This record gives sequence, C-alpha cells and structure tokens, in this order.
Amino acid sequence: MTDFTMTTDADGVSTIVWDTVGKSMNVMNQQGFTDLEALIDQALADDAVKGVIITSGKKGTFAGGMDLNIIAKMKESAGDDPARGLFEGVMAMHGVLRKIERAGMDPKTNKGGKPIACALPGTALGIGLEIPLACHRIFAADNPKAKIGLPEILVGIFPGAGGTTRLARKLGAMGASPLLLEGKLNDPKKAKAAGVIDEVVPADELLSAAKAWVLSEPSIVKPWDEKGYKMPGGAPYHPAGFMTFVGASAMVNGKTQGVYPAAKALLSAVYEGALVPFDIAIKIEARWFTNVLMNPSSSAMIRSLFINKEALEKGANRPEAPDQKVKKVGVIGAGMMGAGISLVSAMAGIQVVLIDSTQEAADKGKSYTTAHLDKGIARKKVTEEKKTAVLGLINATTDYAALEGCDLIVEAVFEDVGVKADVTAKVQAVTGPDCIFATNTSTLPITELAKASADPEKFIGIHFFSPVDKMLLVEIIKGKETGSVAVAKALDYVRQIRKTPIVVNDERFFYANRCIIPYINEGIRMVKEGVEPALIENAAKLVGMPLGPLQLVDETSVDLGVKIAKATKAAMGDAYPDGEVDEVLFWIFDQERLGRKSNAGFYAYDEKGKRQGLWDGLTAQYPVADEQPDLTTVQHRLLFAQVLEAVRALEEGVLEDIREGDVGAILGWGFAPWSGGPFGWLDMIGAPYAAERCDQLTAEFGDRFKTPDLLREMADKGQEFYKRFGQDAKAA
Ligand code: NAD
Repeated sequence: MTDFTMTTDADGVSTIVWDTVGKSMNVMNQQGFTDLEALIDQALADDAVKGVIITSGKKGTFAGGMDLNIIAKMKESAGDDPARGLFEGVMAMHGVLRKIERAGMDPKTNKGGKPIACALPGTALGIGLEIPLACHRIFAADNPKAKIGLPEILVGIFPGAGGTTRLARKLGAMGASPLLLEGKLNDPKKAKAAGVIDEVVPADELLSAAKAWVLSEPSIVKPWDEKGYKMPGGAPYHPAGFMTFVGASAMVNGKTQGVYPAAKALLSAVYEGALVPFDIAIKIEARWFTNVLMNPSSSAMIRSLFINKEALEKGANRPEAPDQKVKKVGVIGAGMMGAGISLVSAMAGIQVVLIDSTQEAADKGKSYTTAHLDKGIARKKVTEEKKTAVLGLINATTDYAALEGCDLIVEAVFEDVGVKADVTAKVQAVTGPDCIFATNTSTLPITELAKASADPEKFIGIHFFSPVDKMLLVEIIKGKETGSVAVAKALDYVRQIRKTPIVVNDERFFYANRCIIPYINEGIRMVKEGVEPALIENAAKLVGMPLGPLQLVDETSVDLGVKIAKATKAAMGDAYPDGEVDEVLFWIFDQERLGRKSNAGFYAYDEKGKRQGLWDGLTAQYPVADEQPDLTTVQHRLLFAQVLEAVRALEEGVLEDIREGDVGAILGWGFAPWSGGPFGWLDMIGAPYAAERCDQLTAEFGDRFKTPDLLREMADKGQEFYKRFGQDAKAA
C-alpha cells in the first residue's frame, strides 16, 4: 500500500491521489516524497499523458502538513554531520517540487512540459500548500471550513519546502508576510483574494474544472522562470522593496524581541533569496531551514507545541475508563469564569445549566455567550442559526432542580470554602451518583474541598484560566481521593471543548499559579531593591515572556495579588518568604491603584484605558539605585524563579510528566515559548550550568534560588530532563 496512486483517463489526464494509509488526514513522510516523484516521472515520460491533477483521497481535506515527528527523527538519525544530512534531505524535497514546477520544460526555452494542476477538496496546510504552490494552477473546493496556509512559524520553524520562496515571489514580501510570519490561515475564498490559490469552484466540480484547465493547453511557465521577472512590490534594492524589508525587519524584531530564530531566518531567506535566481533562492531557503532545524529552540518548540501538545490532547495521561463524553454540564456561579465555561461548553454542543443565586446574575452570565456570538455574526464567522442553537443549549436559572441529569458539574462560585461546601451539598442533593463534581478554584486545596462531597472519588479540580474562551490550557487537579473515572471525565470534557489538558496533583497553587507567582514576586522584589522598573519589564520581554511581571500584576489586578499574599501568609505563618514583596504590593494597593481595571497600577493609563508607560510614582517611592544589574542577571532571576518551582513540582510529584510541565507553562502563562518550556530550557543550558547559576543566585539573592536536590543530582550525573523523564525513558 502506498500513499500516492495514479490513474490516467481516456483524455490523457493523469490523476494522482494522495491518501495517507492509516490516517484521517494526509501527512507527508519520506516515503511519500519518493512515491510522488516516481508517479510524476512516469506521467512526464508517458507520451499518452497530456497533464496531471494532484488531489486527495480524503473527503474534504487535502493535507495537514509534514509529519514533524519525521523532521525530528531525520535530525537525530543524520549521523555525526546532522546539518549536512538535513540540508541534503531538504534539497531532495526541493528536487521533487521543482520537477513538478518545471514539468519537463526545456530549461533554456521554457518550451514543452505538461500542465500540472492541484485540486484541493479542503484544508491544505504546510507541505499541503507547498506542493500546490509548485503546481501550475491551484483549484480549491468552495468549502468555507477549509483552512489554507503555512502555519510552520507557530511551532518554531518556517516553510522549508519552497513555500517561503514561492509565496514571496508570488505575492511579494508585503503580501506574503502575514502568511509566512504569522502563519495566518484563510478559507478558500480569502486564500484566493490573497492570491495564494487561483480558483474556487463548487466541490462537485473540483476535478472537472481542474481537468478542463489541464486540457486547455495553458501556459505553465512560472513568472519567476520567465526572463525579466520582477518581485511584486519590489526586491530589496528597489526603493519600494527597500521600505518593505526595512519595515518587515523592524516588525519581526518588535514582535519576537529577537528570541525566535525561525522568524529571523525566514526573513533572511526571503531577503537573500530575492536577490538571486529561483534555483539559488531555494538553496538559500534550504540553508536557513537547516540552520533553524539545527537550533535547539526549534526542536524544543516542535516537541512541546506540536508533538507533546497533541499527545496530551489525545489523552496521553488518560486512565483506562469507558468513554466519559459530557452530555449535560451544570455550571454553578455565572460570574466571569462561569460565563466563559458556559460559553465554551455550549459551543462544543454540550447542554448547559448555568446557576447563580439570582436570576439576574444567571442571565448576565448567559449574556456573555450572546455577546460573543453577536461579535461572531458581525465578523461573519457565526450564523443566526448557530446563535439560536448555542443559546438554546444554555438554561440560565436559580433552580438547582434543573441540574438533574447532569453528568458533570463545574463549580465557579466565590473563592470561599464555606460557600463552596454549601453549593456542593445543594448540587449533590439533586444529581445522581455518577455525576462528577469539579471545582474551578484557583487557590483552595481540592482534597479539602472534597470533604464537603458525598463521594470524594468523584470530586476533582478543573482549573480554567481567564479569559476562558481564549486561554488554551486547562489544569486538572487530582485530590488525594479523586478516582480514575473523574480524571477520565475531566479529560474527555477538555477534549470536547478543544483545549489542552494537564493533570497534576493537589499542592498549594497546583502547577501554573505556583510557578507564575514567584515570577511576579521576583519582579516586585527588584522594584524594592531599586532596580529600574523598565529594566525589569524589558528583561522579561527580551527573554520571551509575553508580559513583564509588573504588567502582569496590572492585568490580573493588584487586589487579587494582595488577597493571595494575605491568604498565603496566613497559611504559611513564619515560613512566609515574601514580606518585602508585600510592602510594595500593599503600598500600590493603598494608593488605590488596582491595575488595569482601575486605570492605574504599576503602569499609568489614559482615560480610555490605554497603557502609557510605567507610573513615575513608583520610582518616587522606591528610588532607582545608582548601580543597576546587568540584563542577564535580571533575566536569570525572572526565569529561575519560575523554573525552580517547576523542578520542585516535579520533585514533589505535583507534576507526573515533564511534558505537561512544559506544555502547561507555555499555554498557561506564556513561559518563553522559544525554550520549549521550563524543562526544555534547563536541558538547553544543561543541569551543571543551571546548578552553578543557582548557587551564585542563592549567594547573592537568597535561599529561594537554592538548587533543588533533583537538579543537583542531575548536574552531578550530567543528566537531561527529557532523557531521564521523557517518553523514551519511560518506554525503555
Ligand atoms: P466572580 O465573582 O466573577 O463570580 C462568582 C459568581 O458566583 C457570582 O456571579 C456569584 O453571584 C456566584 N455565586 C456566589 N455564591 C453562589 C452560590 N451560593 N450559588 C450560586 N452562585 C453563587 O468570580 P470568578 O472570577 O468567576 O471566580 C469564580 C471561581 O473561579 C473562584 O473559585 C475563582 O478562584 C476561580 N478562578 C478565577 C479565575 C479568574 O481569573 N478570575 C481564574 C481561575 C479560577
């Protein structure tokens, strides 16, 4: 069985059908390229064949992309010169695609050759668009659900099978930039409007339209193979092109702060490629692509953001249990979180009972979904029918009796043990014995809250992040007595609402908040020490954190910080380590600067709520010291504050799987994605250096940087986290 097959009809049109064996969507692997090339050779050599159509055997889709596992393996198995192995492998792919593009034409005169069309029944991503871009005409079925684009940049690489060079030449640097640099995906009509594909036709006319074109004796020479080709918008030395490239370079550096090697390499490939003929440009693209694949950041990003994220979504850590798909969910508390949880549940087709203490509050929670759908309608992404259907699934009420028949409850009432206990009892008086009860608490121990439950085995934490509809991560927390069916239920639910789950054990602040709080505290502590606030914030951004620690406090609100600090201090007593942090935090609170919501915090805001810059009152109260630390020291303090918590969480068994630690960190609080996560970063810098650096930080700044025993042991033994705790180690 091969992934590609070819048939030729009586009119001399050969159709190559791509149908990856054993997968629901086509993905490209090494054998696939070999098979495709053999069929192209055969068609070009056969005088009876007038032209070729490449299409898919999968209903409604063309291809999902390259099997990135294979890229990772290609690198590992390339012997002692992996860069050469990669470069040659990439050039071999170019060879196949260039063969399609030249289609047997005379290299000097451009005469001859056979037309090759690509017919996309639907989604075409990555290599699934790079193959069509090498063809002479791209047809797509009018399938509004289809997504067409090159999302490689989102996992830390860039389109390296000619997509970068071809798209830049087809659309110009400006036109190609959102598609290449942001990985923007379009439906077929928008892809046509953007110039990515050539024709959109009704699905049942896809092949006939492609065939008619193939038989029309079309001109098939690509513009870049014609004499006198000029890049749309101008090449770098053209006045207009010059401006585009200067702008693009500034934009890329502004957006990536220079920490993402792929974006820079992509831009270099386009810039340098634009100065030379096409065949040299793809060689340049291949060299930059190899450079990116050789960078540890790209393999770390592929590992966390593609391979492991997908594995977790598919239930890598799901216990054995029958299907636990949720049919009817009860959401208790229709505040900020409950409203969002109802929205994502109803959007997934789940029936929702949304309860609050007053009808007004319940209705207000439901109106969040109405507003969301209305916005979708204004943007033409949602239809009136969809709105009616989704709203019809949400029953906003104060009546607990409506919870009858629910198989899952998600409680999101006030963060108070008593209120939560009361709600648990009220709910369980109505729901059946199989119903799983989940709490969305962010700070209260699950095991403690489970005491109010009639059946702690069916009690679990499902911790969403705010805003629920935007945040991709959901943290599932097992209490001491939580049973495997409850875990399976939570995981199946998270899968239904299309988010990424991690499963952790019950300790203070679980995993994500446990790591993010020390990051915030380290930032505030530096303010107290007299470190220039702008240095703190910029150091964070320059190391790839989406928000500096002070901005993060403003976004999540100063009063929440104060509340958490007070509760933590009460729980920890004399062991509480953050008195200095609290001095600054409580002072800001006393100035009635509660963050973004009050238009005043560590930052100043204008009356419209637009952030203006750091508030100068801060340095008036905490003067900037004459001597400032260097950038790396500030960055290491901010990174180690988080990473050491992740290591401690692993040591204590809060984390059971480092993949969850890394994926959770990136999706949960935006931990420097270029690093692949805290454990990815530690593997990059190596345990011996990490331990040495912790020793230095401890000597200079205190015991919170003390090297955890596990890290010390790994440093002594020269071990890596993914080698010791990764899947390969587990399988061995
Ligand atoms: P919120 O104050 O916006 O909403 C709470 C809602 O619960 C209110 O509408 C209130 O009327 C309702 N409520 C209170 N007691 C009730 C009762 N006995 N019966 C029915 N309804 C009742 O709070 P929120 O921000 O949505 O947080 C809710 C929960 O989610 C808390 O446990 C919080 O710790 C957790 N959480 C919050 C965030 C966040 O960023 N806000 C993130 C993760 C988890």
